Order: sequence, then C-alpha cells, then structure tokens
Amino acid sequence: MHRYPLSFSSITTSLLRSTVFFIGIVSLLVLCAVPQGEAQTAEDRNRCPIILVHGFGGWGPEELNGYKYWGGIFDIQEELRLAGYEVYTAHVGPFSSNWDRAIELFYQIKGGQVDYGEEHCLRYGHVQRPAGKLFTNPLYPQWDAQHPVHLVGHSMGGQTIRMLAALLAGKAAPYQNVLRDTNGALFTPGEGWIKSITTIATPHNGTSLFDLTDNPAAIAAMILGVAQVDMAGIVPDGFYGFDLDQWDIHPQEGETTEEYLRRIFDLLSSSEDFSVYELSTSGAQCFNAAVNLSTEDASAYRFSFAVEQTVGQPYPDALLYVPDLMMNPLMLNTALLIGLSPSFTDPLDIGPRWRMNDGVVNTESMKAPLAGCADTFHEYDGIPQKGVWNFMGTFHYDHLDIIGHTQITPAERKTIIRFYLSLAELLTSLE
Ligand SMILES: [Zn+2]
Repeated sequence: MHRYPLSFSSITTSLLRSTVFFIGIVSLLVLCAVPQGEAQTAEDRNRCPIILVHGFGGWGPEELNGYKYWGGIFDIQEELRLAGYEVYTAHVGPFSSNWDRAIELFYQIKGGQVDYGEEHCLRYGHVQRPAGKLFTNPLYPQWDAQHPVHLVGHSMGGQTIRMLAALLAGKAAPYQNVLRDTNGALFTPGEGWIKSITTIATPHNGTSLFDLTDNPAAIAAMILGVAQVDMAGIVPDGFYGFDLDQWDIHPQEGETTEEYLRRIFDLLSSSEDFSVYELSTSGAQCFNAAVNLSTEDASAYRFSFAVEQTVGQPYPDALLYVPDLMMNPLMLNTALLIGLSPSFTDPLDIGPRWRMNDGVVNTESMKAPLAGCADTFHEYDGIPQKGVWNFMGTFHYDHLDIIGHTQITPAERKTIIRFYLSLAELLTSLE
C-alpha cells in the first residue's frame, strides 16, 4: 500500500477556516510536515518517464528568459531528475484547443510532423500540417504500449492529457486513425501507452471565470504577467511563443502582448476549436461528454489534486467565497469574480461550495470530470485504483503556488519540491 504523504488538505483547510479572517487579521498558513520525498529505490515497480504538461497560457522551459512554468525561479523537472526520476517538460499551444494541444503533445513525445487530422481541419478551417511544428528531437521516441509514460498536467494540461488518452485509445469514432506513426501512416495506438494521468488544479468541469468574463485576453495576459510587453519591439525572439501556426496568426509591429492576445481572442473566441470554449462550464461539459473514462485509455491510473485559497463568508442570502490573505494579488479580481459567481455557473449543482476557488478555477471542478459524463472519483485511501479518479485531496494553494510561482523562500520551495517528489514516488510505485 502506498500512502500519499501529503495529507494536509482537510486538516489544514479546517484550521484555516477557523483561524483566518479575511480583513485585518493575520493569516496563518499551516502546512503540515510533509515527509521528504525519496529517490527511486529497488522497490519501485516502474521507471516510466514523467512528462509535465502546462496549462492555459503556459510556456516552454526555454521561454520567459528561463523562468519556468513548472517551478518559476526553480525547475521542478531538474529537482526530480536530481532525485533519479526521468522527467520531461512538454510545450504545447498555450491558447490552442485541447484537440490541437493533444496532437502536439503526441508528436512532441513520439516525434514527427504535427498533423491535426484532415476531418478536424476541414471542420474548423485551420492548417493541417504546419511546417513549423516538426519534432525531430522528440522527448521519448521509444514511447509505445511496452514503454508507457506518466502524464502530469496542471490546469488545462489535465484536459489536454485526457484528450490525448482518447486519441490514443481510439474507442470512439472521432479519435480513430487520427495520429500517424513514424512512417507517416495513420494508426490508432490502442491502450497501454499511458501508465497514469495526474491532474493538478484542472478545470475538469470548466471554470465560472470564463463564463463571466467578457475579456479572456486580459485573463491570459494576467496569467502570463507580461501584459504591457511590446511584442514586436522589445521582446527578443523566443521569449514567448503563442504557437498558433495552425491559425497563421502573428504579432504585428508595435503590438503589446495584451493587444495581440485581444486580437487572437476576438478572432477565435467564437470557435469551438479554441481553449476558451473548453474552459467554460458549458464547453467543458461538452468536452466531458466526448472525452471520459469510456472513450479514454481505461488502463491508466488517474489522480487528481484540488487547490483553494478562499474563505467562505456567510451573508443573509448567500455563502460567498473571498480570497484569503495568501492569494496572489494578481488573482484577487478573478478570485472574487468566481467567489461571488451566480448559481447559473454551477454545472455540478452543488450550491455555494462551487464558489470556492484558487483564483482561476472552481475547486470542486478539479476533483474529476463529472458534468456531462459518468466518471466518478473516490477519496484516495493509499491504494491506487483504476476505472475511477483517485482524488488526492484539496491543498491550500492558489492556482500558481502549486506549480512553484511565488514560492520564494527556501522553505516554500522545499515544500513544493517535496510535493512533486512524493508524486513521482507514487507514480513510479504503480504496478
Ligand atoms: Zn484544431
């Protein structure tokens, strides 16, 4: 039995609920002691590589002057490698749809020319095989059913992994014979290519943020934190790639990041083949109806982690959730937008608890795909199960803390590194 050592969710949350007052009171963040994650030992049952998949607005390891999506000023990939794990960081279209991102992820791991599929491209009207998306130096070319991988996704990265699990399994019509093997022939790999799927702060059932905002470009700019950067002037080549080759959209002279994002979003927001659609609660519901345990690779283990950093505030007519003092100031407005959201944004019909959030995503949305499909989850009890989501608990972090951002002090960084070491230990212990 493998007991996941990070068990501070309910204990910490209840402590905080009773000790943290929103305004004027010092917030006490209690993270229980987490046992040190350990390097691989002879007891490990598998040595499958771990591949990290970023979320909406994410970037590759070489971008943002080396400021990592996975770690910020440190590098979670390198920390895990130092401990003996084989780990890779993937980079897919930050604003592309899950279909496009999953296809890119496949070729990035396996190698070859990205091909989004003829039927898909005819339907949505974008380029099928962009010349700029040829992977000649793939992450793990030996990838197949005998050499499976662990896929770990933060935020939208979790949805992307699920889409890839459907494309690989090919159980439903839209996902059969879309991918190409190394000879360029269409094929459906079948089950077994994915050892496990882990989702961290993933909006499985969408986020009410994208139901309520009329400016998703501003949210994207906030996540990037580079809203005022002059794209065509100051930004050196390679600083940040929007990777929208399939749509043939490029920054113009003198355009700031936010202006460019707004142009992208104005152009693509009406398309269902765009990230914003699948991040909304209605879009996620449609996504779940098509991509779920019955269509994905069922042989993979599934783990989900939820995060939150809001406090419930009872009012005469409603229970609202407001950000606590640990919330990243960049996300105060979006946390409030979700925390005060009207009931129509609640796809799970769970009442006020739907408003609890991490600044970007409703916490309840992170447990498992539930709206629009028959997937279920159970509270992880130390024994990983297949055919159901193993829910690992709710952790007191905001949307970016959990991937290391704003974790500046050595103690904070160490806690995050231990989180990922413990996860790696769990994944490599799977039979
Ligand atoms: Zn597409």
